[in-house]
Amino acid sequence: PGGLDVVGAWAWVEAFHRRFSADAAELGELDRRAGDGDFGNNILAALRRVRARLEQTQPTTPGAVFLGVSHGFLNTGGTSGPLFGLWFRGIGRATDGPVLTLAQLAAGVDAGTATVQRLGKARPGDKTMVDAMVPAVGALAAAVADGLDLADGVALAAEAARGGALATEALRARRGRASYVGDVARGVLDPGALTVALFFDSCHG
Ligand code: ADP
Ligand code: MG
Ligand code: MG
Repeated sequence: PGGLDVVGAWAWVEAFHRRFSADAAELGELDRRAGDGDFGNNILAALRRVRARLEQTQPTTPGAVFLGVSHGFLNTGGTSGPLFGLWFRGIGRATDGPVLTLAQLAAGVDAGTATVQRLGKARPGDKTMVDAMVPAVGALAAAVADGLDLADGVALAAEAARGGALATEALRARRGRASYVGDVARGVLDPGALTVALFFDSCHG
C-alpha cells in the first residue's frame, strides 16, 4: 500500500538537504563541544556532492537515487560521511523497481544499520548515530507488520529516531571522537543521531 517513486525519493533527498542546511551550524557546534567541529561541513559537502551527482546521472528509480546519495557520502572526510554512505547504500540496494515500498525501506534501513554497526562497532547507548538508527529499524519493522503505508511508517521511524537521538544527551560516548572527552560529552546531543532523525523527518511521502 503506497510507496515512493523516483520523484518522491528525489524530493526526500532535497528536503533532507534543505533541513540539514538550516541546522548545519548548530549540529557542527555540538560536534565542536564533544569532538572537532567539522560535522556540519562534512555533511554539507556530502549533500552538495549528492545533488551534483543526481543532476548529472538523472536516476530513474528510487534505488538509484539512494545509491547516488550513498556515493556522495562515501567520499566524504570524517567518520560520519562514510558511515552514512554505507547506510544509504543499504537503502539503495533494497529496491530496484519504480516504487520504494515501506517493506523495502525497512529491509534497507535494517541492512544499512547492520553494516554501520559492523564497521563502526557502536552499539545502542554508545552515543552515536546508531542510537537513532536502531529505534528506526524497530519502528519500521512494526509499521510493516501493521500494514502501514510508507508515509505513516516513516513518520513513526522519525519519532523513534528522534527519541533515540534525544536520549544521547545524557550519555558518555564510547565510540568516535566524543569518547576522547569523557564526561565533557554529557549534556551534548550527538549530531549524527540527530541527523538520522532529520532524515526521516524530511520525507513527505
Ligand atoms: P569525526 O569524528 O571524524 O570528525 P564527524 O564529525 O564527521 O566525525 O562525525 C561525528 C559523528 O559520527 C558522531 O556524531 C557520531 O554519530 C558518528 N560516529 C562516530 N564514531 C562512530 C562509530 N564508531 N559508529 C557509528 N557512528 C559513529
Ligand atoms: Mg567531527
Ligand atoms: Mg573530523
